[in-house]
Amino acid sequence: MAQVKIYTTDFCPYCIKAKNILSSKEIEYEEVNIHGEAKLRDELEQLTGRRDVPQIFIDGKHIGDDDALEELVASGELDKIFGVEEKNDHAPESRNVIIIGSGPAGFSAALYAARASLKPLLITGGEIGGQLSTTADIENYPGFNGESSAELIQIMQAQAEHFGTEILFDTVTEVTFSQQPYRIKTYEPEFSAKSVIICTGASHRKLNVPGESEFAGRGVSYCSTCDGFFFQNRSVVVVGGGDTAVEETLFLTRFASEIYLVHRRDRLRASSILQERILNHEKVKFIWNSVVEEIQGNEKGVTAVRLKNVKTNEETLHPTEGVFIFIGHIPNTEIFKGQIELNEQGYIITDKRQHTSVPGVFAAGDVQDHIFRQAITSAGTGAAAAIEAEKYIAEIEHRAYPGR
Ligand code: NAP
Repeated sequence: MAQVKIYTTDFCPYCIKAKNILSSKEIEYEEVNIHGEAKLRDELEQLTGRRDVPQIFIDGKHIGDDDALEELVASGELDKIFGVEEKNDHAPESRNVIIIGSGPAGFSAALYAARASLKPLLITGGEIGGQLSTTADIENYPGFNGESSAELIQIMQAQAEHFGTEILFDTVTEVTFSQQPYRIKTYEPEFSAKSVIICTGASHRKLNVPGESEFAGRGVSYCSTCDGFFFQNRSVVVVGGGDTAVEETLFLTRFASEIYLVHRRDRLRASSILQERILNHEKVKFIWNSVVEEIQGNEKGVTAVRLKNVKTNEETLHPTEGVFIFIGHIPNTEIFKGQIELNEQGYIITDKRQHTSVPGVFAAGDVQDHIFRQAITSAGTGAAAAIEAEKYIAEIEHRAYPGR
């Protein structure tokens, strides 16, 4: 059996994703957690040239990160390497309700559907916890005041499971909503479901400037809780002016020697409580009215960003070893295109009861909300979607909906 080694840090959702992929295939692995282990971190960087985790090795060969592992799964290569037997093409497993996504919306939907005795299946997607998993501490979820997001996710998952939710660590690759029951394909089994609740959230937006893809993982990062440790005593740049950019900058102050926050305007979009914390922080300096035009580097990784002042058009080269990009999100709706109605920005269109354009398919959380995008509002819409799913199933089964 091939030997798998996976380098991880604490608070890294992509590491959890990679471990879940391996566990779902019953592949054993050795985990090397480099959090706080400067020697191991430097060894890993020397070995791979990468400044991000997870990094995965199979029989001593460097495979790459979680995306590389996912590509091996999609191509069937991983199964070949480990002799995982292909599952026979059974008829799809049939379910009452399938929830796609494992952020606050997904877990709330699961909790409500489970308590309605619908025995929901929740398919986690790549990052359990969704965007919440890349946040350090939670201060604005009632009942939570500074505890870690990992703790909140664990509690949500445990509560949903306690009432009968089945959790599948897999990714939905295709859906068919043209006829009942709806079809959901994952890397492994295929399912059919009477009702589907889409809670796939949103993913980080990219700058789309030269050097960004080239130096991803070699200085360019979208997750300070995952990769901040690689930048101990280094000077880094953060791009963005919203809550995420400010929160992630505050997290980076634990590691980096100095942080330059580059924002395209002259004032932050972030909430005032976060602004208060950052504006006079000794490690943080601001480069206002500026955008990153290019990320430069060499074989070791990022060395500088080329900045342009949008007011004066002046260009400057700013030396740095890390660029953390937090410029908003795009909804994860690629697999739903052509199946349900999306708006121009790609968000799922829902009514006030979380119904989409397809009866019995509901959406909740950031995948359908470009306004509030808070953990607590996502959780609320997840609960509402599950209540509506319960009603819908009762209707198609010609049962009276309880309480009506
Ligand atoms: P956001 O609020 O959309 O902010 C994105 C930031 O990136 C903005 O400052 C924007 O500039 C800038 N930006 C966008 N495109 C850019 C580009 N191409 N180049 C340079 N800069 C660009 O996104 P977010 O900060 O990820 O927050 C998303 C939502 O989650 C928000 O509703 C936020 O309140 C919420 N959130 C809440 C918390 C919390 O409550 N603790 C934490 C994180 C996120 P402009 O300002 O000029 O538009």
